[in-house]
Amino acid sequence: MTLADPLYEIPLKCPVCYTEPVLSYKLKSKCQTISQDDLTIPSYVGIRGHADADILPMAPTVCPRCLYASTQGESFIRVDPTKRGDDIRLRDDTQEALLLSHVVRQGIIDELGLTVADFQRPRSSKAAYAAYRLTAWTAAIKAEHRVPRSMSELATAHLYSYVFAEQALASTESRECLEKAARAYAQVFQTGDHEPKNVDQLLYLVIALHLRLGWREEAKPFLIAFERLREKVRALGGEDAARMRVYQDRISDLWQMSS
Ligand SMILES: [Zn+2]
Repeated sequence: MTLADPLYEIPLKCPVCYTEPVLSYKLKSKCQTISQDDLTIPSYVGIRGHADADILPMAPTVCPRCLYASTQGESFIRVDPTKRGDDIRLRDDTQEALLLSHVVRQGIIDELGLTVADFQRPRSSKAAYAAYRLTAWTAAIKAEHRVPRSMSELATAHLYSYVFAEQALASTESRECLEKAARAYAQVFQTGDHEPKNVDQLLYLVIALHLRLGWREEAKPFLIAFERLREKVRALGGEDAARMRVYQDRISDLWQMSS
């Protein structure tokens, strides 16, 4: 039996150099069971006749010309005007900075011995790592230009470059990605550049990353913030309180393991 493809393609247009189509991949709904590890990194197992989804390596969409990269579809221009959603409108100075930084992004892939063809599906772990590094560079420039949610995207890109660095590179490099992810997520929490409803998961992740790195002292202010939030949520009860109990149990385990 042939398993169905869990991903579908969306053609987009680069908001920096206007190349089109730039192919983006999305996960079809209800075709996977998804579980998360201690760092909230998902694993996918196909259901209802679908193959296991390779969405993690394919999530960063990469412009083959200027190497602008993002994990968010709305960071590109829609080609099909009938589809709902807002197009991105970059400010002129942001677009120029992104265009000029092409050399840096090209340097990242040159150094890894890759070419743009390596970003096609299927992506190797090394190409996936590079795609997240490009996403991090793109997001860092957008963050400098105060594009909303770019700090969150930067943090996520560091976390997933860690996942693929673990598979494709030396351990010093994967540790460095994890350290960058911990600092970036802490900054996302401190600056409030995140979806308001996701604060419990964000705070959990900041703590989990710090404990994984053995940074117990640095984790303490976040543990206090987590405790305060838990008190507030517990009074309200329901699903949020249940989720925070799960996070609290995981934090206790991670604390034990980090000593
Ligand atoms: Zn481009």
